[in-house]
Amino acid sequence: MIRITELRLPLEAPADALPVAVAERLSITLANLLSFTVFKRGYDARKRDAIVLVYTIDATLSDESAILAKFADDPHVKIAPDTTYRFVTQVHEVPDIRPVVVGFGPCGLMAGLVLAQMGLRPIILERGKKVRERTKDTWALWRKNQLNPESNVQFGEGGAGTFSDGKLYSQIKDPKHYGRKVLTEFVKAGAPEEILYVSKPHIGTFRLVKMVENMRAQIEALGGEIRFQQQVTDILIEAGQVRCLTLASGEQLRADQVIMALGHSARDTFAMLHERGVFMEQKPFSLGFRIEHPQTLIDQARFGKYAGNELLGAADYKLVHHAKNGRSVYSFCMCPGGQVVAATSEVGRVVTNGMSQYSRAERNANAGIVVGITPSDYPGNPLAGMEFQRQWESRAYELGGGDYSAPGQLVGDFLKGRASTQLGSVEPSYQPGVHLTDLATSLPGYAIEAIREALPAFERQIKGFSMYDAVLTGVETRTSSPLRMTRGEDLQSLNVKGLFPAGEGAGYAGGILSAGVDGIRVAEALATQMLEAHHDR
Ligand code: FAD
Repeated sequence: MIRITELRLPLEAPADALPVAVAERLSITLANLLSFTVFKRGYDARKRDAIVLVYTIDATLSDESAILAKFADDPHVKIAPDTTYRFVTQVHEVPDIRPVVVGFGPCGLMAGLVLAQMGLRPIILERGKKVRERTKDTWALWRKNQLNPESNVQFGEGGAGTFSDGKLYSQIKDPKHYGRKVLTEFVKAGAPEEILYVSKPHIGTFRLVKMVENMRAQIEALGGEIRFQQQVTDILIEAGQVRCLTLASGEQLRADQVIMALGHSARDTFAMLHERGVFMEQKPFSLGFRIEHPQTLIDQARFGKYAGNELLGAADYKLVHHAKNGRSVYSFCMCPGGQVVAATSEVGRVVTNGMSQYSRAERNANAGIVVGITPSDYPGNPLAGMEFQRQWESRAYELGGGDYSAPGQLVGDFLKGRASTQLGSVEPSYQPGVHLTDLATSLPGYAIEAIREALPAFERQIKGFSMYDAVLTGVETRTSSPLRMTRGEDLQSLNVKGLFPAGEGAGYAGGILSAGVDGIRVAEALATQMLEAHHDR
């Protein structure tokens, strides 16, 4: 099979133009093009009046070696890579001590699935509830100002990505095509097939719920076990080897191999692991606000006359500004046609994030506008970044009026440095509500200064971005983990054998896809280590 990259067609080209374009690109007749599939479809909107679709095509031809020879110097015509996933092992004997996965977010889900597919019958422990029960608890915060600290946007089946935009792309290096395995499993579990070929795939929250349930059923059918409302509260480490986990119920679970896929919000578990001596270190992250604009404004600015085109969908954006004070300000987790969500997991704190449905049809576009910070901003032990997050989340709770409303301000007022008292044309979507105020003291001074400089700079890229009525809500603090549980080359903790820190919480992923990919990597590392231990016996 031959892979052609960078095949460009006008947005308006009819469907049957594609095979013709493939044949023309390879200078062959249509009869010699035996079949083809679209591996990826993206678009190039840099020229707003001439948006083009950009395809990666896998084609089967009658004489592939001749074509490869003819295009030997062409970087866009190559043999298609083999992306088939191959298991590192298949086990037919149930291990005496089963591997344990802590956390059932995208990382724990993929780790658990791959372990189960290899025959290792993992036990998966998740502190939160099954996804449908969890949905009720999450809505209780959004609709009734009631937070359940064990069942919310961060904790529960499916992990932090369940109430999200379900964006499924990442910039990680993926030479073994694990990302393809993640997407293929998602499609098998009910995600739309297009996630396999559109360049910026997304699922939306409703479909994620069904998909997660189907994946749970698959793990169970393969002999895996998933226990909900089972928080891990302690770990027994003997002579540098993990031996046992304690659960909130008091149960002791024997465990020689543990994948810790905790997510970035498991602060109590981070503190427990730190106390038990698991090696961890500080890590940079970002904090800032969510910003909301009318989606039509973003569509118009990015797509001009093509705004509303079905193939393009609701427009997104990606912005960066390097401020004079040395800070970088950038857009984070942009959610077209979505809503800002209350994403705290701790009582008395406010955290924002964004989500959307598959249709991305809500009136507002939202994104984090965040500022990069480093451990020099929060000196101390490995948990200092976490305490720094807490400090600003508590401040947001206070500024929001103390009932989980988010503090908010119009962009125009924020730039002028005066409190907002009235909304304009943009109605914020955050539930349970937005309390208008002055956000100037809601983040460190350097962050406020950098964002004040960045918003007008972003206006130069997206007309209307710094419109007076756009709404800022705060605070966005959980952009990534504030620490790293460093691992060695064998993906085990630097100082605890049998412990595999994984995913976003361990500092090895940022987003659903990369967390899933990391889950596969640690599952493979764990299986390899188990086999070696078995052979050594
Ligand atoms: P998590 O998904 O956080 O899962 C960790 C799990 O571990 C949780 O379910 C938690 O309950 C459990 N756990 C924690 N401590 C314990 C314990 N002691 N015992 C037992 N269980 C425990 N990313 C994208 O790529 N695209 C998006 O569109 C996107 N949108 C997002 C929207 C929102 C609102 C949020 C909050 C996040 C979003 N993200 C998005 C980020 C993405 O969700 C995370 O990067 C991803 O979920 C990380 O996966 P993970 O498995 O490493 O951790």
